[in-house]
Amino acid sequence: HTLPDRTLFDHLLNPATDPARLAIETADGGRLSYGDLRAATGRMANALAAAGVRPGDRVAVQVEKSVEALVLYLACLRAGMVYLPLNTAYTPAELSYFVGDAEPALVVCDPARFDATVALAGTVAVRTLDARGQGSLTEAAAGQPEEFATVARGPDDLAAILYTSGTTGRSKGAMLTQENLLSNARVLQAEWRFGPDDVLLHALPIFHTHGLFVACNLVLLSGASMVLLPRFDPADVLARLPAATVMMGVPTFYTRLLGQQGLTPEACRSIRLFVSGSAPLLAETHRAWEERTGHRILERYGMTETGMLTSNPYDGDRVAGTVGFPLPGVDLRIADPATGAPLPEDAIGAIEVRGPNVFKGYWRMPEKTAAEFRPDGFFITGDLGRIDGRGYVHIVGRGKDLIISGGFNVYPKEVEGEIDELPGVLESAVIGIPHPDFGEAVVAVVVADGTAPVTEAGIAAALKDRLARYKQPKRVVVVDELPRNSMGKVQKAQLRDTHAGVFG
Ligand code: ATP
Ligand code: MG
Repeated sequence: HTLPDRTLFDHLLNPATDPARLAIETADGGRLSYGDLRAATGRMANALAAAGVRPGDRVAVQVEKSVEALVLYLACLRAGMVYLPLNTAYTPAELSYFVGDAEPALVVCDPARFDATVALAGTVAVRTLDARGQGSLTEAAAGQPEEFATVARGPDDLAAILYTSGTTGRSKGAMLTQENLLSNARVLQAEWRFGPDDVLLHALPIFHTHGLFVACNLVLLSGASMVLLPRFDPADVLARLPAATVMMGVPTFYTRLLGQQGLTPEACRSIRLFVSGSAPLLAETHRAWEERTGHRILERYGMTETGMLTSNPYDGDRVAGTVGFPLPGVDLRIADPATGAPLPEDAIGAIEVRGPNVFKGYWRMPEKTAAEFRPDGFFITGDLGRIDGRGYVHIVGRGKDLIISGGFNVYPKEVEGEIDELPGVLESAVIGIPHPDFGEAVVAVVVADGTAPVTEAGIAAALKDRLARYKQPKRVVVVDELPRNSMGKVQKAQLRDTHAGVFG
């Protein structure tokens, strides 16, 4: 165990860190030192306790990104409570499901949602996170002392419940322990050489594992600082690059930055590391980024349940189209989906993992949890992949997106890769649609980039010699854009619904 006597909180806001060191800079130039942040978490922890929340209780939080939201996260850790962030895009109806499922002791929301949240929360207490006003936790915290004795927690105690993105079905609450989060942050700190002089440009949401655990935990554990931006705006991010040393993003950040005239090597001169994850980075984006900036993006792979699993090397070859090597301490195997038996090099199979980073199970879903673990403790990620001769992991797609057409397996990513190379194509998504003859038929949804005409017949002709017949799309639909969630993930379930009738 990596947590013999100190809690995750003590590692993130280490009492030994110089209190004068800068921890957070905000978009409007506000600056918080480590001392300020520690004092603020003490006051907020006292306010939570005064609100009747006890160690072990869950605190559900649906608020816009802000310093206060980060303080609330750290205060929950400090007070031994279970932090439960929720996507700000959730509607009241969706929120109502999560509150019912999680049964928190407290729900924290933005003032604009206060009435709606009270209405759906039933008997659960609701507070807002704003400077003043009805039920303001921030106002309550301002009147509290900054001293707070950090509540003791063991390595297996829950630090957070984080709902998965809901890409393949209803979101599941992943129970993450103190040890899960600390072990992962430590590994990334070493792999990506994080140190106190780093400045992270932080434009990701903080209700997701990427922006909260990868980004914030890593910065705080390292005694580094972050520029906390409320949202991703390409012009703003570009203007702030010269003040940072590291940027973490989802692929859409990079494609949108590539649309900015001012993206030059000069604009990136202070950056030592660009990281991408949460969705596949197109090889073309990788190439274009290197051409424009001189930097090779480091692509990594992970998920809510496990934190980060693989990373391209910091010093070695960052190979486009791969997610690099398993991180130290992570056991990763490619297995036969039916039996869990390991498969040989280059064979496509289920990605299964084991390690101190792997979650404790899905909240209140014991059967689902049991079904996703092998008897030897490996977690079945739901992703398909292969490991090449040099040890690089390739993500082939999600198990649920695999298309079985006429009895043959079709991996959408392979077909997408061929289509994306064609002139005039910006990107594509390949899905399986029920079909009377084939069971499922391959359908390609394509976005044009305007540089050359894109037609169904043209794509069909171009793919004829590139793909086996059973992999060729039976239908090509040209659309303006692909549906994506806030993390840039293509919503294939939505695409399958939209195009369900394509075969009449
Ligand atoms: P749900 O589990 O609810 O269906 P989700 O899997 O999208 O949603 P997350 O935990 O946010 O929820 O996302 C993890 C998934 O994102 C991984 O399982 C993988 O499919 C995908 N992913 C993450 N990083 C990469 C990457 N670099 N390349 C390809 N896919 C990635
Ligand atoms: Mg998932």
